[in-house]
Amino acid sequence: MNNIHYIEKPKGIHTIQKKSFFNKTFLLFGVVITVVGLICIVGLQTNTDHFKPDSTFHFLNDSEDVIDFSYGLNFIYETQLSRVRTIEKWSSPIKIKYEGNPTKEDIAVLKRIIKEFNTINGLPEMKIVNKDENVLLVYTPKESLPTIQEKYNLSEIDKGICRRRSENGEIISAVLVIESDISQEYKNSVVLHEFFHLVGFYEHSFDKTSVINRDGEAVPKLSAVDTLSFKMLYHPEITIGMTYEEISTYYQNKDMNEILK
Ligand SMILES: [Zn+2]
Repeated sequence: MNNIHYIEKPKGIHTIQKKSFFNKTFLLFGVVITVVGLICIVGLQTNTDHFKPDSTFHFLNDSEDVIDFSYGLNFIYETQLSRVRTIEKWSSPIKIKYEGNPTKEDIAVLKRIIKEFNTINGLPEMKIVNKDENVLLVYTPKESLPTIQEKYNLSEIDKGICRRRSENGEIISAVLVIESDISQEYKNSVVLHEFFHLVGFYEHSFDKTSVINRDGEAVPKLSAVDTLSFKMLYHPEITIGMTYEEISTYYQNKDMNEILK
């Protein structure tokens, strides 16, 4: 409708030329903005993709799903690399001292977990010590939690907590606190959950079968994906500082049975 208005004006031609000039300017401006925008988007995507799992990323919610290297890689990404960007793990013996009020079964469970973790190829030896510990495991009743929380500078404790310290990607020490007056069965799964955080799986998983599932469901033993990811993370060829791309390249065309044995 505006065009008719311009033509009817005495200075119509000028106006049309002007309009045409402005159109060109706006068109040029638009093109420049679009190009700059596209460059930014491509740039951002490149940066993000650098840390993103491949298109096969999916979460296991059903035990009938196939567990393969890509699943293990996704689990490692989800629970560690999404936070720290390059591989972190223990590389010297994990010496655990416990204190507080553990029950007999707590000690038995602790020994069972240590025994199982020591079967993982590449994990430094894990053992119970009386001194020179680098992991302190505290069993404490609910009423003492605030004191313990303050003493070790921890965030709020809900049944259990694991706070690690790492230097240049090497996990060097940790404090684990377990609420001691919850049911024994639940406590057993809390200890396992915290121990899985201890070895480097920092974040919770969408995978409902995992001992570190984000729903807080009690899982009594390492699931198939937990074990696979644990073995993949501590495989001797996977070293501290590696990126997601590097470990996924390593596992391309590798034999699953070789890693799982
Ligand atoms: Zn947790």
